Amino acid sequence: SRRLVLAEAVRVRFAPSPTGLPHIGNIRTALFNWLFARHHGGKFIVRVEDTDQDRLVPGAVDAVLDSLAWLHLDWDEGPRVGGPFAPYHQSQRLDTYQRMAEQLIEKGSAYRCYCTEDRLQRMREEQLRLKQSSGYDRRCRHLDQGERRVREAEGGPSVVRFAMPFSGITRVRDIIHGDVEWQNELLDDFILLKSDGFPTYHLAVVVDDHLMEISHVLRAEEWLPSTPRHLQIYQALGFGPPEFGHLPMILGPDRSKLSKRHGATALLEYSDEGFVPEAVRNFLLLLGWSLDDKTEIMGPEAAIERFSLERVSRSAAIFDHDKLTWMNGVYIRQLSVEELADRVLPFLERDLPADVLPVSRDYLLRIVPLIQQRTKLLSDAAHLTSYFFQAEVDYDPLSLVQKGMDRESTLAALEAAREDLAKMAQFEHHAMEESLRAVASGLGLSARQFFGTLRVAATGREATPPLFETMAVLGRERVLERVASAIELIRAV
Ligand code: GLU
Repeated sequence: SRRLVLAEAVRVRFAPSPTGLPHIGNIRTALFNWLFARHHGGKFIVRVEDTDQDRLVPGAVDAVLDSLAWLHLDWDEGPRVGGPFAPYHQSQRLDTYQRMAEQLIEKGSAYRCYCTEDRLQRMREEQLRLKQSSGYDRRCRHLDQGERRVREAEGGPSVVRFAMPFSGITRVRDIIHGDVEWQNELLDDFILLKSDGFPTYHLAVVVDDHLMEISHVLRAEEWLPSTPRHLQIYQALGFGPPEFGHLPMILGPDRSKLSKRHGATALLEYSDEGFVPEAVRNFLLLLGWSLDDKTEIMGPEAAIERFSLERVSRSAAIFDHDKLTWMNGVYIRQLSVEELADRVLPFLERDLPADVLPVSRDYLLRIVPLIQQRTKLLSDAAHLTSYFFQAEVDYDPLSLVQKGMDRESTLAALEAAREDLAKMAQFEHHAMEESLRAVASGLGLSARQFFGTLRVAATGREATPPLFETMAVLGRERVLERVASAIELIRAV
């Protein structure tokens, strides 16, 4: 039947709480869910868990969705796209949670609690003083009908708490961690519904995963301790639970909790820093998953085909920023010249001095092949190419003078170069090299000396892409002007 097929189909969700900008860990969770769905031909759902109204951060939902879009992780249901189980914002589903909470009360699996914040505070202090285990002391669980009626009549605020069984064991068969068990007596009567009518995460997550027919819950390991609570709610509501898989933590190279210090920032900042989404996605793939112990570069098709939960590790993944940078270079080198030019252009517009803008795309298409090999970040581009755009280059005149040369021989070299470059039939790099090599030997200078002087004169830099190609792209006029200025500079020394 249709129902059976639906129940068997893979439906996974990414359930961000918009309490901050999404970071590497959040989006790694999204990626693994997406890969799992795509591998199995299932559905990938985004659900916004915005029930903690005090902690909402404006713009966070968009930042999550934009991060997914940047990495080309498309979702089948959720915000911006809708779907058969809409709405996908928990804040728009309050009556559903309230109805479920009522059901749990009727079944005797939940109860209203009228304890004031004051009383709970005193209770916690007392527990601390007596070194008792913390957690609600279940006072309201034991109210009789009469006492309850009185409390209801008083009309004060109340919450709904889950009535945890006093004994027994709750076991989760985690896909990644294997069997994990909890003693029910150590689990407290946690809150399901808050006094403002909003559900807690525990109630909302179970209700929605059930109603949205989620087959596998793949989420960060920090949620593993919540899982017995969730399983208890499933059981109390008479729902079959989904499969659970808790993804390993991500740590910094020093094995401490990942932070900015390790180069981990909000995901979209990687875009501003010049990382390409292909590299970030490949890097995230390897944070807790591997094909074998050597494969590192893997595009989306291969990743979808190969992804499996069996190869998700239990132990923490280590975030290595240098590896991400290396990987970025690999992906940049794989781009076509046109593609790289398009990606670099916004960075040039951002980082080059305003007076050299706009950048001509045709000119850029000739520059890009010269820098592609050495570009690690798109944001390197302005520094690597500025001398192609600036009218004048700025440098220390003494850097024109190469080892074993003096002012006179440098001047002679520049003058000979000027003459040769001016009369050269074609301003093309092969011809240029042949002709200039002859000039160098005529002057009794080594290629290193002569071309070193010329490089500084033409670019203002001591290290550039291959000199003749660089000069060919700069063009005869610009190179001659720069050699002329170099002659002035060295005369003035
Ligand atoms: N809203 C939770 C979070 O932001 C999701 C936990 C879950 O996937 O169950 O991490």
